[in-house]
Formats: sequence, C-alpha cells, structure tokens
Amino acid sequence: MYKIIDNEDILYFISLLGKENVIQKENIKADYHKDELGTIYGIPDLLLFVHNTEEVSSIMKYASSKIIPVTVRGAGTGLVGGCVAIHGGILLDTSKMNHILELDEDNLTLTVEAGVLIMDIFEYVESRGFYYPPNPGETSATIGGNIATNAGGMKAVKYGVTRDFIRAIEVVMPSGEIELLGRKVVKDSSGYSLKNLIIGSEGTLAIITKAILKIIPKPKHFISLLIPFESVDDALESVTRIGKLPVLMTAIEFFERETIGFAEEFLGKKFPDSGSAAYILIAFDAMTASELKASYEIVANLCLEQLSAKDVYIVDTKERSDSVWKARSAFLEAIKASTTEMDECDVVLPRNSMASYIKFIRSLSEKHNMRLPSFGHAGDGNLHIYLCKDQMSDSTFEKTKQIVFDELYLRATVVGGLVSGEHGIGYAKVDYLKKQIGKTQIDLMKHIKNGFDPNHILNPDKVI
Ligand SMILES: Cc1cc2nc3c(=O)[nH]c(=O)nc-3n(C[C@H](O)[C@H](O)[C@H](O)COP(=O)(O)OP(=O)(O)OC[C@H]3O[C@@H](n4cnc5c(N)ncnc54)[C@H](O)[C@@H]3O)c2cc1C
Repeated sequence: MYKIIDNEDILYFISLLGKENVIQKENIKADYHKDELGTIYGIPDLLLFVHNTEEVSSIMKYASSKIIPVTVRGAGTGLVGGCVAIHGGILLDTSKMNHILELDEDNLTLTVEAGVLIMDIFEYVESRGFYYPPNPGETSATIGGNIATNAGGMKAVKYGVTRDFIRAIEVVMPSGEIELLGRKVVKDSSGYSLKNLIIGSEGTLAIITKAILKIIPKPKHFISLLIPFESVDDALESVTRIGKLPVLMTAIEFFERETIGFAEEFLGKKFPDSGSAAYILIAFDAMTASELKASYEIVANLCLEQLSAKDVYIVDTKERSDSVWKARSAFLEAIKASTTEMDECDVVLPRNSMASYIKFIRSLSEKHNMRLPSFGHAGDGNLHIYLCKDQMSDSTFEKTKQIVFDELYLRATVVGGLVSGEHGIGYAKVDYLKKQIGKTQIDLMKHIKNGFDPNHILNPDKVI
C-alpha cells in the first residue's frame, strides 16, 4: 500500500524545490497523464521538476521513508507507457536537468545531465567535429530516457545501440543514495556490471541523473542508396545477401509502397520514387570519399547485377537526402495520421525471418480485417507494426487488438525473436515479456528489483 500524498508532503516538496516546481494534481496538464503511445493513462498526485542530483536524492529519501511511488519522466516520447504514473504519487520530470557538463577530447567523452535532449547532443558534438551515433527516431527524447530504454534507432547496424555508447552513469537509488556506475574507461571487467543493468531498466531500479557518453570523430562523408524492388520477398532476400558483404553500412531500412503513400500525404511532399512494391534504404558514412565510394559501389553493383533490384538511386545531394530521410522519419506520425487510433508492436527477429514474418502480418491483417502497416530497421531485424482502428467500434478494436498482439508476439517468439527491439516493455508489454521468457527469468528479475527497490516505489508494476 502506498501513502496518499497529503499537505505535509506538499509543503516539504515546496520547501525543497520552490513553489513553481511543485504542480498539484488538479493543475497537471493532460500531456503528463500519458506518453506518446497514448493508450495508457495515469494521473500523478504531484509533478515535480528537478534541477540537480541532490534534489533527486532528497526526493527519493523522503519518498522511501513514506512509501510514495515515484515515476521518472524524460520527454514522454516513450511508446510503452513507461513514464506514466499508473499508481499516482510523484511524477519526477528531468527536463530541467538539461546541461552539457564536459567535453573531454582526450578521453573522447561527453558528460551530460539526464534531461539533455538528444538533438542538443547531436548539435553540440557535431559542431565540434565529434559524433554520438545512436540515433533513435525521436530526437526530442532525453538522453536519460534513451539510456533507460536502451534506445536503438537506424544506425544500430554499424554502431550498435545506446548501451554501446555509455561509459558511465550517475544514479540515485530508491533510498536516495548517489552512485557512479562505470568510469571514463574503455574496458571494464570490474564485477557485475550494474551500469548495464540500469541501462534498459526503464526507471524501475534507479534514477539516472548524469551520463558520461562515448563519442567518436565525426565521419566526413555520407551517402545513401534508395533501392526499389518488385516485391517484399525480393527486398528482404536482398537485405540478407547485402548483410553478408564485407562492407559496414550505417543503416538498412525497409518499407513498402503503402507506407510511402502515408508519408507523402502527411508531409504534403512527393517521395522520389513510389512505383515499386518495396524499398530498402541504405546509409553509409566514412572518413574519406574513396572509402565511401568503395563501400557503396559494392552494394550497388550486387543489387543491380545479382539481386532483383529495379534500380539503385544514389542519394547524394542535400535536397534528395532531405526528401528521403524526412519521409522515413515521418513514417510513424504519418501512419498515426492515417487512422482514428492505433497501437504499436515492436518486435526484433533473426534477420532471415523478416520476409516470412511480413507475410504472416499480411495474413493476420486479412484474417482479422484490421489494417497492419509496418516498416522496420531491416539491418537489425527490428520491425514496427501498427494496429489501426480505422472505422472499428471501440469494443471491436479492443478485442481484435488483443488477438492480433497475441499472435504477433507469439510468432516472434516462435521464429527466435524478442518482444521488444528498442521501445522497451513499460506497462504495455508486461504480459508478453512474462510469456516469452518464463518464470525462472521473471523471478530473477523480481529478485533484482527487490534488491534495488525493496518497497517497489520506483515505477511500480512496469517491466515485470
Ligand atoms: C516518432 C517517434 C519515433 C521513435 N523512434 C524510436 C527509435 O527509432 N528507436 C527507439 O529506441 N525509440 C524510438 N521512439 C521511442 C522513444 O523516443 C524512446 O523510447 C526514448 O528513449 C524515450 O525517451 P524520453 O526522454 O521521451 O523518455 P520517457 O518517455 O519520458 O520515458 C521512457 C522510460 O524511461 C524512464 N526514464 C526516463 N528518464 C529517466 C531517467 N533519467 N532515469 C531513469 N529512468 C528514466 C521512464 O520512467 C520510462 O520508463 C520513438 C518515439 C516516437 C514518438
């Protein structure tokens, strides 16, 4: 049982943070009742804006002494209800912890507070000749949210995901203690990796207050190839073949004609080509023009000479690059705009199962008479499928959604995939994680949760 917040608690938080940083239930805007998924709701009793680690520590000391639930929120762009205060209590907003603290050029690290937006990190490092490669689609997310969900994105094929670029994190434990996990070091075999346990723990084990990020020198040359195919099978078969080439690609994205149509309508702009059934979009980066040319020519030649590509468009001007990548980045919002309501499924599969999985999605769509547009990071087997309500009644949508979700996640499990590639589990996928990994692993996770947070005050009932 959690304590209900009363006047004494409110006065304590006002004395700690100032009146302007303590928002009471009736004054909290509806945006804070949900995240970008939009289907999971919870109204916090208090919204607290924090400015530094010491404030977070004091809040947690108080909350743990009184057993008040605390849910952390970055920018609220999550897609699994992770930052929604489903038990009420405190919603702790990190958006004012938004300072870039140190660029260490010798150790190639950037130290930031948790509420810094990733778009600001990109701008800061790139204007100084450095690069932070993880690139999840929503750049108004915070780095704290990215670390808490181990966010992925398009460049995972070459660079990996957020976890691969975290040297260290400063965290506040549920008890209020402040710990530094990891250091500015390249290697680390020093005991259990608590740092890696917190990365991806979705605000259930500790609150990330600072991060030391790994950065690299910025590549100087960039190019993309847009490759149309007659069929989905041809496109996905090509992804497997291209993946075997001795070439490092930054991103390999897959989408169908239907998705381009949504983006064209949403952006009011024509895509450079929309006459083919399926497309792959491949990005390359390199330090020298010759290295870049050598890489993309191998791929282009394979596509034209041995695979069934209809053509290979070289995306090498700013104008063409903008039109292609802006459309790609708008897919989610464009599909959202094409329907009355939608829910989303994020699965990751062995790369060579993608073609059969997409056929399976088609058959599900027909069987349940529900539109299921999808697109994905083909290079790493990560597919996003959107369950569209369109003209269905609320009750039919709820019923059909449940059946379709069950079938999508079951099939992902059967082909050796996982129930989340990058968005996390949050509240929306708790049952699917349980079904997939089973009792032994869930019990281990519960022991871990109890070890960090014995009173379950931090983001209760999320993930497990
Ligand atoms: C259009 C669009 C495109 C997207 N594309 C991608 C994509 O390509 N790849 C991808 O991975 N995701 C993507 N996302 C999902 C989302 O942007 C990510 O999940 C992101 O990491 C969430 O960051 P946030 O700051 O908004 O966190 P929130 O949504 O506020 O929170 C997410 C989770 O992290 C926890 N959390 C937040 N901050 C902290 C902290 N400081 N300490 C501890 N826990 C914390 C919260 O409690 C919650 O569980 C997309 C979303 C949208 C809307």
